[in-house]
Amino acid sequence: MTDSRSGTDTAKHGPGTRLVEAGRRPEWTGAVVNPPVWRGSTHLYENCAALKSARNADGAFFYGRRGAPTQWALADALTSLENRAEGTVLYPSGVAAITAAALTVLRPGDRLLVTDNAYDPSRNMATGLLANFGVEHRFFDPQDLDSYAAILSDSGGSANTAVLLEAPGSLTMEMSDIPALAAIARDRGAISMVDNTWAGPLGFPALERGCDIALMSLTKHVGGHSDLLMGSASARGPLYRKLRMTAQALGHVVSPDDAALALRGLRTMSVRLTRETATALELAYWLQARDEVAHVLYPCLPGDAGHDLWQRDFTGGCGLFSFILKGRDEAARARLIDALELFGIGYSWGGFESLAIPFNPGPIRDGAWPPAGWDAGDKLGVRLSIGLEDAGDLQLDLTRAFAAMDSA
Ligand SMILES: *Cc1c(COP(=O)(O)O)cnc(C)c1O
Repeated sequence: MTDSRSGTDTAKHGPGTRLVEAGRRPEWTGAVVNPPVWRGSTHLYENCAALKSARNADGAFFYGRRGAPTQWALADALTSLENRAEGTVLYPSGVAAITAAALTVLRPGDRLLVTDNAYDPSRNMATGLLANFGVEHRFFDPQDLDSYAAILSDSGGSANTAVLLEAPGSLTMEMSDIPALAAIARDRGAISMVDNTWAGPLGFPALERGCDIALMSLTKHVGGHSDLLMGSASARGPLYRKLRMTAQALGHVVSPDDAALALRGLRTMSVRLTRETATALELAYWLQARDEVAHVLYPCLPGDAGHDLWQRDFTGGCGLFSFILKGRDEAARARLIDALELFGIGYSWGGFESLAIPFNPGPIRDGAWPPAGWDAGDKLGVRLSIGLEDAGDLQLDLTRAFAAMDSA
């Protein structure tokens, strides 16, 4: 389901052009623009010799589990977007990508360091599945580089260590210095994996910034239309080949129909992200000035605690951000969210439609929350995923909902 091509030939183009060009090889698309949806488990061979020689060929028909041009084109497109990647493996979900990457680089007795602001299922993977397989874990404060380096150096004997990074955290939106965290890991011989779902390769070139494996939930920005689940891992040659072997051993496949949908989504990802980010920024400024709001958490927003790092390391953002209500209770927050008409209430993000969910930042992290300087009452969060609606309409919807929140 994967194939390799260095992204350097298209890396000189702008993001929109790269998305249009990505993965469109004539041998896969023929005379049409997009690769056809190749549905098939069995591939037929001319003769026994052809059957035998197909077994070891990369990017050639073998059996449905290794995919067909529909999936190869998507993997190839993602590789060309991730500078320095040699290949990309596709998975049936983002969680599958994270777990399969961890199972690729870790063995019993090894350790995984997980950033304390990680996506919840990643934390659960460390404390559950990986623990069952004899892999130890430690959570670390992503903003405390010294103690992170100390934990890494204290290897507990000969155990290999890998680190799982993520920035910004998808609820608390905390930034961390990913290039520094990855460099420290490399110095100590540890492999770094980064969950790059928020920014994606257009917003944060993860391998170029020193990470070893770039992970993404394609369910979010790449799919972009809330109609599929998929994940990916991109890496340099040797690691890519190991990721591929693990995916094959686990039997991970993605359907050609979903791959075609993801490719369709990918073509418009840059315009969607640009538009969402602009709308989100407008709303973030507006929310920041409202009495009901204690804090807006959004690295794209000037003045945000993570803004400087974001500006230094990132080339883009997305429409996902959070805010913390000032001095309200859970019932008031529910009135606010329930009163929204244009925002759906539901998980996931990165679709064309806006979403809102409540979250409580306190229990997500082991430590360092709430940040210094916050009032004790600042603990009820709302996360917004901004879609493609018009900013003015979303703002009116929120205005109405704030009124409903305080009307009871
Ligand atoms: C959604 C998400 C995932 C998991 O992706 P699925 O495709 O839903 O399995 C992983 N990381 C982050 C940051 C996410 O938001």
